[in-house]
Amino acid sequence: MKDSYELVPGVMQGLDAAVARIIAPNAGVMTGPGTNTYLVGTHELIVIDPGPDDESHLRAILAAATGPIRWILCTHTHMDHAPGAARLKQLSGATVAAMVAPRTDHDFQLSVDRVLADGDVIECRDVTVRAVHTPGHASNHLCYLLEQNRMLFTGDHIMQGSTVVIWPPDGNMRAYMESLRSLLKLDLAVLAPGHGHLIGHPRDELNRLIEHRLRREDKIRQAVLRSGTGLTIETLLSSAYDDVSRSLHEWAALSLQAHLDKLVADGELRLIAGRYRSSS
Ligand SMILES: [Zn+2]
Repeated sequence: MKDSYELVPGVMQGLDAAVARIIAPNAGVMTGPGTNTYLVGTHELIVIDPGPDDESHLRAILAAATGPIRWILCTHTHMDHAPGAARLKQLSGATVAAMVAPRTDHDFQLSVDRVLADGDVIECRDVTVRAVHTPGHASNHLCYLLEQNRMLFTGDHIMQGSTVVIWPPDGNMRAYMESLRSLLKLDLAVLAPGHGHLIGHPRDELNRLIEHRLRREDKIRQAVLRSGTGLTIETLLSSAYDDVSRSLHEWAALSLQAHLDKLVADGELRLIAGRYRSSS
């Protein structure tokens, strides 16, 4: 894989023999350099995550295509990944496949031609992609495994350069951690995230991410245990996320809520009159 770890704007051909990447022009706090759209295949193409409904980006996808686009897959239906699917379908005649969007205010209500489930296979002339259900960031999140080279397109389950936000109630920390662990069972060569550049050594990265979440969970647990009388979510945010820039606390608060929901579900904490306390 040549130039695997470079991140350049515009079209990046040859991430692998059969994979190109185009970065959507939607850079930001949550999207990093922008959403990665991947083109998979040579004679017939699968597009993974068309991104926002941005005409210039969708035209760039068509221009980069080395053959007809047969499939448009979405890893999930958040606004930076899925809205371009409808227009790209119009322009290409491709079939849209994904899991159905949950009813949240941050999901695009995508019209899906083929509803996918864990293990479903999508085939083109020279490539085969398998859907891997990875709930956590979103309940309908799928990663896609390119069978030919063991590249896993991870959407927002794993990003490069930033920590994934878990946004309850559709986002679920317990499901997220289980999904990370489930990927350890797969034979993976490289991770192709929805934001940022390719990530090598997938097992190391998965273990690092699991440890990061466990450390955060323990920091929250210890803060509650020390408090005796329990802590509000506001107090917990400043103590358990003291290493995170204040400008990101609005987002950290969502993941904190997800951690707290998990600790309550695990029976470790109880929520009484707005304060989290130890169950023991
Ligand atoms: Zn995203």
